[in-house]
Amino acid sequence: MIQLWIATSNQGKLNEFKSLLNGKGIEVHSSSELSVFSHPKETGVTFLENARIKVRYLKAVKPQCWVVADDSGLEVEGLGGLPGIHSARYAGEHASDQENMAKLLKMMQLRSPQNRKALMRCVLVVLPPSGGQEEVIEGVIQGTIAEKLRGQYGFGYDPVFIPQGETKTFAELGVAYKNQFSHRAQTIKKLSQLITK
Ligand code: IMP
Repeated sequence: MIQLWIATSNQGKLNEFKSLLNGKGIEVHSSSELSVFSHPKETGVTFLENARIKVRYLKAVKPQCWVVADDSGLEVEGLGGLPGIHSARYAGEHASDQENMAKLLKMMQLRSPQNRKALMRCVLVVLPPSGGQEEVIEGVIQGTIAEKLRGQYGFGYDPVFIPQGETKTFAELGVAYKNQFSHRAQTIKKLSQLITK
């Protein structure tokens, strides 16, 4: 089995990695399993910079393994691309998903009630074992922001994100849909090919 370590404490992300890499000969671990590991501050100004910070931090602890970090979030056109890299902390440092979505819907009401266009972006930085070259993989899915929360599956902004061409939110469409089309699914499929080639 190939050992893959993911720099994340986000259970929702981890579930998606585990589900899509299941049966591929890849054993998925998360940095949360390491009692000595504390997550670095995400001081970058882009998804790529933040993913690099996280992946290098974990690589120092697991130099012999494949190591990957995912930095991702929601970009809303009418809010000038916000929450973007601030997605996890939009309503404050330790804000819950519910608080972040409440702030998002309030900001949409104030700033952009008509234009509800948005996208979700995922940037993976991958470091191979034994000092191989860094790979960057990006995935994007277009959509719109719903008027209110709908659905029970997924995590983060899933209850307010309606993928292009659909009428339901990610949280209504469920795991199988996200595993096929989401920004993260696009990147994990390429990651799987890279690791097993
Ligand atoms: P990160 O852990 O700093 O990359 O923050 C990612 C944040 O973006 C999450 O906490 C969610 O708020 C949001 N996000 C990223 N991917 C998704 C997704 O697939 N669905 C819903 N929200 C997401």
